[in-house]
Amino acid sequence: MKILVFATNNAHKAREVEHVLGPGFQIKTLKDIGCLEEIEETESTLEGNALLKARYVKEKYGYDCFSEDAGLEVAALGGAPGVHTARYAGASRDANDNMDLLLKNLEDKSDRSARFRAVIALIQDGQETLLEGVCNGHIALEKQGNQGFGYDPIFIPNGYEQTFAQLGDDVKSVISHRAIATRKLVSFLNDDVPRNSVPGGGSR
Ligand code: IMP
Repeated sequence: MKILVFATNNAHKAREVEHVLGPGFQIKTLKDIGCLEEIEETESTLEGNALLKARYVKEKYGYDCFSEDAGLEVAALGGAPGVHTARYAGASRDANDNMDLLLKNLEDKSDRSARFRAVIALIQDGQETLLEGVCNGHIALEKQGNQGFGYDPIFIPNGYEQTFAQLGDDVKSVISHRAIATRKLVSFLNDDVPRNSVPGGGSR
């Protein structure tokens, strides 16, 4: 079994990633390695923030690790909230406030298409690798469902008529941005490098 340090304290993310990784891997989160402080996400891109978190853990705690940064990109809002997804409605990062603001900002828009994008940054054996997962869909007219986290109650993935919060982990673990990026991570760790990952910190 491979032990991987996942630079997160988001239990939802850890569970989703573990679900995709399967029994060959065991995850240790930040709490498990004694990193209790918050790592400030100060970069202007998902890639930058993912790398920042992984580098912090490597430099301060010495572990090879991976981190993940995700955002919701809404076409009619020019790709917003993007890197600001967590704090869209303010510093409290309240999921309901974030969703309410997004629904309000889309009230007069006919195009509700959106995508979730996840970037995993892996640091292993002195090498940095970025892996991306994208899930296309659209923003619902109102919140529906109570599974998952964050914006799940208002995101309807393409090919479905329900939100992630209604569809739950069984669907998310197959089609979500995080699941796609995580499967690329598994391929990479199993030495089957995905064609669109570039060792050395290059982009997907
Ligand atoms: P971060 O990657 O933890 O910085 O998350 C950025 C924001 O995107 C947070 O508000 C999360 O709740 C939201 N987010 C990331 N992934 C998902 C997801 O799978 N479903 C719903 N919201 C998500």
